[in-house]
Parts: sequence; structure tokens; C-alpha cells
Amino acid sequence: MTDPLTAPRGMDLLTLGVAAGPAIRGPEHGIASAVVVDDAFYLVDFGLGCTRAASEAGLAGHRFRAGFVTHLHSDHVVELPGFLLWNWGRPVNGFSSPVRVIGPGPDPRDGTRHLAGTSRLVASALDAFSYDIAIREGDEDRPPLAELVRATEVAAPEPGSAAAGEPFEVYADELITVTAVLVDHPPVHPALAYRIDSAYGSVTFSGDTAESENLVRLAEGTDVLVHEAVNLDYYRARGFSPAFLAHQENSHTPPAGAGRVAKAAGARRLVLSHFAGLADTAHWHGEAASTYDGPVDVATSGARYRVGGPSGAGGRA
Ligand SMILES: [Zn+2]
Repeated sequence: MTDPLTAPRGMDLLTLGVAAGPAIRGPEHGIASAVVVDDAFYLVDFGLGCTRAASEAGLAGHRFRAGFVTHLHSDHVVELPGFLLWNWGRPVNGFSSPVRVIGPGPDPRDGTRHLAGTSRLVASALDAFSYDIAIREGDEDRPPLAELVRATEVAAPEPGSAAAGEPFEVYADELITVTAVLVDHPPVHPALAYRIDSAYGSVTFSGDTAESENLVRLAEGTDVLVHEAVNLDYYRARGFSPAFLAHQENSHTPPAGAGRVAKAAGARRLVLSHFAGLADTAHWHGEAASTYDGPVDVATSGARYRVGGPSGAGGRA
């Protein structure tokens, strides 16, 4: 176990995976990010490959405190069960005290369909693997997993209500405070952006969204804005269906839009991630830099950024 007295102090952002999905169109891991504050870390989304990426970044499960799910598209949560099972208990240097998973509930407009929100997703996963979990609790002396994983669904404001545009707190411990706001990712609802503040600085995650005024409000003055990006031309050139193209246009943000959001929020650094469609680095960077004067990074899986500090915006480490 890392000794807190000798652990490096400060705040880092790690872009563990940067690809949209559910499709494998390149070498990058699926969307997932880690925020490390002193000796603890937190995840935002659990895309394909996040378990390996976190391990390779040196993030042992015993340092994990909480995970924040932006929305329930599978490319953001598919490896949540795997991450928990691979980071649980002393045999894997994993967590032995409670951890939190915070995310959206089911869409309240869905009526009688009874679709699963974050809590049922976690409970179902633990049930699906109950044989393995029971075996390991007895055979390997691991602590009871179901008691350690505490899932909470965010009470999102009603769309169209006065509160719908306002950030609200969803989590706090002695190291960080996390606030969320509704973003525009139709037909998905609730879809959330998160902002993590610590004594060192702040990182704001767009989640999946079209260009969002709410996100501008959440990200005001943030040190690092991690924003999704879509290359619509990639899909147009490959004959995707009109419905698929309409979703990309209405629910995602081209890099120039991410730049506009960063500028309007006064973000000190823009990190593009969650790349939908492929493009070279120059495309992503150039489009965002056409609307935003600050530093722009095109994230890759495993990249690390220092957050805050004397120079403010930090930088790629
Ligand atoms: Zn999505």
C-alpha cells in the first residue's frame, strides 16, 4: 500500500481511453479518465480497456474511491463490472473499504419499460458474477463485494425546469468536490457533465453532448476541460445512414464547438477526448484552435496531465 506520507502530492488527469464506441475503429482504449488527487484516484466513465489502462498507469485498486458515470451508453460503462472485479480485495492490491459508483438513474420519461439505471446496472453485474464473487469471498478471504460497492443514482433536475441549467453537487470527500450538470445528448437522458475540484485545481468532463450552455456554466474558470469531439466528415464519407448521421450532429460536438465552449467558460486548457470517427491529430487540433486561444491537447490513451499548480493550466506530463 502506498504510504500517504510519501505519495506524490497534487492533482493529475489521466486519459485512460479516448475512443467513442461501441466500435473498435483504431488502437485507442474506450472512453475513461482518471483523476488522481494525492494518494486517491477517481474514474469518470468505464470504457473498454479502462481496467488495463488504469493498472498500467499504476492506479492500484486500493487507491480507488469513486467512479462517475456520465450516461448509460455502453461505451461509457461496459467495463464497470470488469474494473470492480479486477480491483477488489487484497489478492489484487484492490479496495477493501467501500467505494462509490455515481451515475444517472433510468430515464424518468420511459414509463413502463423499466430500463436499468446505474444502481441496477451495478446490482445486476454483481448478481451475474455472484458465483465467482462467492467463491472468492470464501476461498481467497476477500471482503463482501456487494457491501463495498455503493451505487447512487444522481437526482437530475427535470428537463425544462429552472434547475435544469444549474450545476449541482453529487459527491464530496476530504479531497474533492464533484458537481454535475445536465448536457444535451439526445435521446439519452439524463446525460451528465462532471466537474472535479480539489485544493490543487479542477477538471471538467463534458461527457457526451452537443455544444452545451450548461457545460459552459459548469466549466467556468476550470483548469482543464476534457471535451468530446466528433468528425462528422468521417461518417459522411462512409455512407452511414441518415439516422446515424443525425444522431452524431445533434448529440455530439465538432472540435470547433469544443473550442467555443472552452473559450466561453474561460477554461485554461482544452483536452479533446472521446473521438467519434477518425482523423489525424492536426485535424482535431486545428479545428479546436480555430475557436480557442488557449492550449489544446489531442488526448491519447494513457496520457497524463498535471492539473493546477503555479502555472495554472498545467500541462501534459
Ligand atoms: Zn453517448
